Amino acid sequence: NTVFLNGDFMHADQARVSVFDRGFLLGDGVYEVIPVYAGRPFRLIQHLQRLQRSLDGVRMKNSYSDDKWSDIIAQLVTENGQGDQAVYLQVTRGVAPRDHVFPEGVEPTAFVMSNPIKPLPESYKRDGIKAITVEDIRWSQCDIKAITLLPNSLLRQKAQDVGAQEALLIRDGFMTEGSASNSYAVLDGVLYTAPKDEKVLPGITRDLVLELADKAGINYREQAVSDADLHRAEEIWISSSTREVLPVTTLDDKPVATGKPGPIWQQIDALYQRYKQEGKV
Ligand code: PMP
Repeated sequence: NTVFLNGDFMHADQARVSVFDRGFLLGDGVYEVIPVYAGRPFRLIQHLQRLQRSLDGVRMKNSYSDDKWSDIIAQLVTENGQGDQAVYLQVTRGVAPRDHVFPEGVEPTAFVMSNPIKPLPESYKRDGIKAITVEDIRWSQCDIKAITLLPNSLLRQKAQDVGAQEALLIRDGFMTEGSASNSYAVLDGVLYTAPKDEKVLPGITRDLVLELADKAGINYREQAVSDADLHRAEEIWISSSTREVLPVTTLDDKPVATGKPGPIWQQIDALYQRYKQEGKV
């Protein structure tokens, strides 16, 4: 497995980062996860735009131009055998003596790896997944894709501990998103997802879901759903680059409506799969 680190491609075992890296000591960095289908990065421009947005949000400079990032990713995907892969890209503020204050004249640490996309269990789409609701304990700038994922990890583990695949986060009585996904609810035939503000990550898959809903004439509103409404929803979904769009059919140990993946999810999933298969990017 080949990785990219600070300008060079190397075997993963050969890659070394200093213990003084601010990513390691302070969680001072941002990241992206880009799916690659049949060797072709999916929605790459959008991911690179979001990377720039995250970097701006934490006052970090971009190590490379979009063209250079595209070249790096293309080479890495080739080195690692094309096919379906998930590219993970991380930039930290660099290596410096530990201090909360930003160091001066330090180059960011840029790291990219790619791994085969693990196929999801077939049951996830056939039967749907389980989710639990938990209090959103994260900070107030969740629109920045920061590497500081301790709250997300704690909440996702809570779900894992009770045999659920995702934790849906509730802030001030309303669902924001999942611990590693955007989230949706269908109420009275209308699709709801939280608006793109500082409480949620602006998901690349979320944008595509709404684009597809728009084309299919599915009514949607970018409006957060209350905890109470969520528990009476006709359908609940999550979306992310690596899990695509998945139906949640059990919430807090109770079936969501009939307990089967709903018709609007089926419609969106079909459109999503067709979009992917047509080799669109
Ligand atoms: N929200 C959070 C908190 C996430 O971690 C992710 C996935 N990284 C998403 C939403 C989904 O974003 P995307 O569709 O761009 O993968």
